[in-house]
Formats: sequence, structure tokens, C-alpha cells
Amino acid sequence: MTPRIGIAGASGRMGRLVAEEARARGLPIAGGICRPEEAGAVPAGVALLPGIAALAAAADVVIDFTHASTIPAHAGAIAAAGCGWVLGTTGLAAADEAAIAAAAARAPVVRAANFSTGVALVLELAARLAAALPAEGYDAEILEMHHRQKVDAPSGTALALGAAVAAARGQDLAAVAESGRHGATGARKPGAIGFAALRGGQIVGEHSLLFTSGAEQITLTHRAFDRRAFAEGALRAALWLRARPAGLYGMADVLAG
Ligand code: NAD
Repeated sequence: MTPRIGIAGASGRMGRLVAEEARARGLPIAGGICRPEEAGAVPAGVALLPGIAALAAAADVVIDFTHASTIPAHAGAIAAAGCGWVLGTTGLAAADEAAIAAAAARAPVVRAANFSTGVALVLELAARLAAALPAEGYDAEILEMHHRQKVDAPSGTALALGAAVAAARGQDLAAVAESGRHGATGARKPGAIGFAALRGGQIVGEHSLLFTSGAEQITLTHRAFDRRAFAEGALRAALWLRARPAGLYGMADVLAG
């Protein structure tokens, strides 16, 4: 069955592209939601629905690129409707993670801080490198750059890279993360995972993970030139999701087929 796609954030940079890519694939768009003041930016032909409950009832899969503040309401509506949820919103708090887990107990959810195929592969490579390079000898640092409108830092993708490194090294990311160093910081702590966030212009998304020892450096870099990479991945996830039972999945599951 061809899934009907609902677009949460239909007026946004990502939502508009999701609509374009869904149309290009011949997928029906059940409707969209956005902030009322942005209704004029919703693509022509996408029906604006009154809220997330109406969207979740009308769609088989909701593709969601909105804002962290929407998570409690969106998770509740998805759980009530039991429809699929492809969640790309970043900048979430711990309480949001619990709400997503509760929704995933009742509905199939694919969540990724970055829906591009390239980043999914970089995350796998990051884990392999981190497992092979001891934390005491190889300092892990993550650098990300994004457009000036981005509202959260470090980016969700940078945090996902940090989580992949920490998990492979048996560390708790929250305990070893060092973010936004400034002033008399003292020497770098052994085993720390460092984050630096740069903002400017219209950079779509750049991430580098560096492992540096006293003798060598290994760098993994991903550059997104076009948000279409994320929209395509989100639609791939939506098509994959329609036949799945309730649960929380990631892009690695989608790519594994
Ligand atoms: P944007 O500001 O261009 O669009 C945000 C959209 O969400 C708008 O349509 C806005 O009206 C809507 N929105 C905001 N608050 C809302 C609310 N309370 N109720 C209903 N709609 C609401 O942002 P964007 O660049 O499209 O990014 C959106 C989110 O997706 C951000 O969190 C961003 O970091 C994330 N993102 C994730 C990926 C990924 O691959 N996972 C890629 C790009 C962006």
C-alpha cells in the first residue's frame, strides 16, 4: 500500500523539500501543519490541517522536521493514532527522549539526527575507529558548521557522532563531553570528547570527527551541499517504516533493509 505522507513543519526548509520529494515519487500527501504565522509558506496543494492530531489521523506516516518544543504533543498524537513517525527534529531534552520512547511502544518510529545516507555510514565508521583507537591515546574532537538560522548547538548529528564514539569506547557521553571551551579551561581531560560549533551564512551541514594522537591524525568529514540528501533519506525511511511493527528504529535499520 502506498503510504499517505503527513508533513509536520510543512512551511520550513525541510518540510517544503519533503513535499517536493514526495510528489516526485508519486506519494500522496495527506496534509501538513506549521506555525500559524507561516501558513503562507506551505507549498501549494498541501492541505493545512488544524494540528498534529488531525495530521496523525489523516496520514500513514508523519515526517516531522519542526522544533524541539513540539515533541511532547507530537509523541502523544502519534501514539494515539498508531501511525508511522519519521522524526528529524533536533535539540531535544531528556524528557523528549522519554516521550519518543513511549510513542515507539505504540507506533513505528524512525528517528535520526541526520537522514542522509552518507552520515549513516560515517556513524558506523566512527564507531569502528573509536573501538580501535584507545581513548587515552587518541583524542576525539567533533567540529560542526551550520547556517546562521540553526537554533540548537552542538548539532544533533555532532551529538550522534559523540554518542557513537562514547558507546564504542564504553563511555557515558554526558560525563566526557567538553563543549564550547573558553578561557582558562585547563588541559584537555584524558578520554574527553570535544565539541565545537560554528555558525554562518547558509551552510547546509558540515561535520568532522578527528582522532588525534601524539603521532598521527585521522579525520572523517561529511559535507551536505543540499538538504535534499535529508529529504530523500526521510522518504526512504517513510517507505521502509510502513511495514514495521511498533518500535524505535534508526537510519542504520533502514539502510540494512
Ligand atoms: P525551519 O525553521 O525552516 O522549519 C521549521 C518548521 O517547523 C516550520 O514549518 C515551522 O512552522 C514548524 N514549527 C515550528 N514550531 C512548530 C509548532 N509548535 N507546531 C507546528 N509546527 C511548528 O527549520 P528546518 O531547517 O526545516 O529544520 C527543522 C528541524 O529539523 C530542526 O530541528 C533541524 O535541526 C532539523 N533537521 C534535521 C535534519 C535531519 O536529517 N534529521 C536535517 C535538517 C534539519
